Order: sequence, then structure tokens, then C-alpha cells
Amino acid sequence: MENNKTTRTWLNNFGLNHPLVIAGPCSAETEEQVLKIAHGLKNSNATILRAGIWKPRTRPGNFEGVGSIGLKWLQKAKQETELLTATEVANKDHVKLALEHDIDILWIGARTTVNPFIVQEIADTLEGTDKIVLVKNPINPDLSLWLGAIERLHSKNIKNLGAIHRGFSSYEKTRYRNNPEWQIAIELQNRLPNLPLILDPSHIAGCRDIIFELCQTALDLNYDGLMIETHHNPDNAWSDAKQQITPSSLIKITTDLKVRKATNNEANFRNSLDMLRTQINLIDSKLIETIGERMKIAKKIGALKKEKNVAILQNNRWNEILEKIVIEGKQNNLSEEFILKIFKAIHQESINQQINLH
Ligand code: PEP
Ligand code: MN
Repeated sequence: MENNKTTRTWLNNFGLNHPLVIAGPCSAETEEQVLKIAHGLKNSNATILRAGIWKPRTRPGNFEGVGSIGLKWLQKAKQETELLTATEVANKDHVKLALEHDIDILWIGARTTVNPFIVQEIADTLEGTDKIVLVKNPINPDLSLWLGAIERLHSKNIKNLGAIHRGFSSYEKTRYRNNPEWQIAIELQNRLPNLPLILDPSHIAGCRDIIFELCQTALDLNYDGLMIETHHNPDNAWSDAKQQITPSSLIKITTDLKVRKATNNEANFRNSLDMLRTQINLIDSKLIETIGERMKIAKKIGALKKEKNVAILQNNRWNEILEKIVIEGKQNNLSEEFILKIFKAIHQESINQQINLH
């Protein structure tokens, strides 16, 4: 696959690094805090300072942001450090205020991308702007909703667009605060190959220790940038304290990351191979997780059979599964021979696990 960075115009026009690093607190808290973090970022390769001014909180009663006064703090931080500035906008009033304060990059949050009326209102207010506008994925794993928001902005002649992948909500508790569902972002890249794609590992992780691994996966998948919540005193942050990192941890993370840059055909080939291998690794992990889930259910069935003193092997049920799975396999271009081999192995493992219960 061609390295398509050359076509991702605003990244080049603004002279922004690869990977683009956006860093800064979840929320602007005080002028002093914003300035302290901005200065802490001067020795990092962050070129854009982020800070939430209006915070959409899931539950009421939490800190909901300092409001427009924070925009002045961002302007001051820009003057002092030359970092570009970024904030979240969630309605037309936010957009107007952000434009008045000359904020460079506006992003639409996950809770806003889900609402076509609000996205339309934001797009109408921004019509024709040359500001960079980044669209976070919606909180639910719905690619169309994400694409739809991008289309609404694009059709208002907003040219400097990008997407931020911040993970998706799920009812089940997993190791992530928001499941990455990498496949959705990969599909977005396939549909819109020229749209810069940025990872927000902070909201996916919900904690500090897996931020590095998420960033590396993103770079291996050819993402263009990272948006990482950074605070000089993360434990005492007014929002998202657990996931924020210090400017010095940010420097360590970005130094340790392996950045893939295509300079010639050989490097292009390596990049494509690494990207495909990363996709395979992600799918393999999902496969193992899914098989593990299946075994847990098989064990529950085993316990029921034991209680009722029923034989473990139920031939009718097994033939039913095989018949169904062979048809589904064919629909996915998988041969009958291959499907039978895999399912016999899975079935054998279920039986072994059920026998171990006895
Ligand atoms: C944020 O960036 O702090 C934020 C609120 O993010 P999201 O919209 O991804 O929840
Ligand atoms: Mn946050």
C-alpha cells in the first residue's frame, strides 16, 4: 500500500510532524495549570495543546468545565509557547466563542458525533472555515454515524478535516474504558484514505499503563497522530485523573514509539506488511477471546448436565452445529474441510473442559 501522507494536505500545509502529537489536560482548570502544562510540553514533540473548556459529563454533579474564560488561557499559552490550540465544541455557541478566540483546532466529542442535528448546527456555523476540525468517533460502534458527521462538515466546505478514534462504549467490562474496535477505524481509513486519522489512547485506556501499547498499534496501522491527555499533576486532575500522564511520561512514550516512515519502495513494502500483521494480531486476539467465551458457556452447560446426570456428548446437537457452521463457513469462503477441522478441535476442547468438571 502506498504511504498516502502526501495527500493528507492540512498535515503538510501546517508543517505538522508525523506523527502529529496533540497533548494537554482533559480539562482546563486554572490559568496557572494550563500554562504550566503548556510549558511542560515545550520539550516534547507535541505541536498542539488540547484542553476541554466545556465538558460533557456522563453524570451530573461533576466538574463541567470552566467555560469561555479558558479560551483566554489557551490563547495565552499559545503566545508563550507557540503551541497551536485545540478544544472541544459541542454546539454553535461554543464554535462562535472558539472562533472569536482564534482557537486553531476544534474537535467534536464522542457524545456530540452521535447527534446529527448538533453536528449539522456545528457544520453550518463553521461553513467554509479553514480551521482544522476533528471528529471523534461516536460513543456507539457505528461507522455510518462517524462517516455521516464527517460528511456533514465536508459538505459545508470545511476542508481541513480529520478523525479521532477514541474507542466505543460497551456494557460489558473489558480491560478498556472504551473498546478500541480497531476494525471500525481501519474501515474508516479504507473508505476515506486521505482523511488524517488520530488515536486518542487516553479515552480508550481509561488508565495510564496501556497508553504506549495503544499508540504503537496505531502507528503500525498507519495512523497520522495521537491525542494524549497530559497534566502536570494527573492524580489531582479535575476530570479523567486516572488516564492522564505527565509531560515527562509523554516524552518517554513518544521517544520509545517506533514510527514508520516510508521513504522508498522497500520501506513502503515493510510498512504495508507491518500494518497487515498488526491487523492479523488484533484479529487473533479477538479469536482467542471469543473461543475463551465459548468455553465458559460450554462449562456452564457441563455443570447443568452434571446436575441432571445427562451424558456430555449429545450427537443431535453436535450435528446441528456442524450443519449450520459449514453453511456459514461457505458464505465466508472457508472450505468444509477446514471448518470441520476447527470445529472438531473446539468441540473436543469443550468436552475436555466438561469432563474436568466431573
Ligand atoms: C475529552 O477529550 O476529554 C472527551 C470528553 O472526550 P470524548 O468526547 O472522547 O469522551
Ligand atoms: Mn477526558
